[in-house]
Amino acid sequence: MTGWAHDASELVGRTPLVELTRFPARAGGAAATILAKLEMFSPGGSVKDRVAKRMICDAESQGLLRTGSTVIEPTSGNMGVSLAMIAAARGYRCILTMPDTVGLERRLLLQRLGAEVMLTPARQGMRGAINKVIELRTTLPYAWYPQQFYNQANPRAHREETAVEIWEETGGAVDMVILGVGTGGTLTGIAEGLRERKPEVEVVAVEPASCAVLSGGRPGPHRLEGLGPGFIPDTLRVDLIDRVIPVSDQDAVATAIQLMQDEGLSIGISSGAVAWAALQEARKEENRGKIIVTLFPSAAERYLHTVLFDDLRGKTR
Ligand code: PMP
Repeated sequence: MTGWAHDASELVGRTPLVELTRFPARAGGAAATILAKLEMFSPGGSVKDRVAKRMICDAESQGLLRTGSTVIEPTSGNMGVSLAMIAAARGYRCILTMPDTVGLERRLLLQRLGAEVMLTPARQGMRGAINKVIELRTTLPYAWYPQQFYNQANPRAHREETAVEIWEETGGAVDMVILGVGTGGTLTGIAEGLRERKPEVEVVAVEPASCAVLSGGRPGPHRLEGLGPGFIPDTLRVDLIDRVIPVSDQDAVATAIQLMQDEGLSIGISSGAVAWAALQEARKEENRGKIIVTLFPSAAERYLHTVLFDDLRGKTR
């Protein structure tokens, strides 16, 4: 890129990588080095920018999206913000469906980015939001449904971009990656991209302890927004995973808070979960001298309505 970007979507990705120093030191020191990729630096504030951009660009080149098209997706998470942002930057209408329990500031942000928000009854869960999209698809002309849990552009964005960035930034020295699994796009793409270059890279998945489906457990409720959908998505290649670390809600939240204060980095709950797992690995003697790379998907500001701030609001939920 010379000089300046021509629209916000050109600014997606190329996020910084930072070493965690005071956080492992406070925990008694670590044998390995922990590096974190800071995805909140992307213009839409999360890792989902890369995926939204890639899915939209792919659909444009396949002729599925054109002037006058509407992007429709069921999501109350970071994907909604990224889709709304890229749709605005490229001139598409965007409709997002989500359960009516969604936090107010999330809804307002989506609307301010020009998206239309359709709320579905909370008792129907994500199923209600998905059904709404299916219904919209039959009534709207030129509706396009990206389907982040199925769309292979999701892992591809990470294989061709995030993995390459990690490879170049570490000069090929990365030994292990520790990544949260939601759609699995981040883990699958990064694992594929790094293993092409260095087959011995270890791949560790992080999932909620109370919804530990990858560890053979049953789906259940949890507070690790963005992780643990409760099923194995099409966008996840489980054969790439060497180990799975389940993390409790309490450890994820406590670690996010500790890390923010130790490192001065604003991170969300799933970042706390991967940081907790990275610390366990970094403290093992067998990992002495290794370079462990993790990825922080989004910043704390996205979670003002959640358990991450409950103590400051004087509430316990
Ligand atoms: N953490 C957060 C906060 C997320 O929004 C997501 C994406 N859903 C993830 C982790 C997991 O990423 P992926 O969908 O690529 O597995």
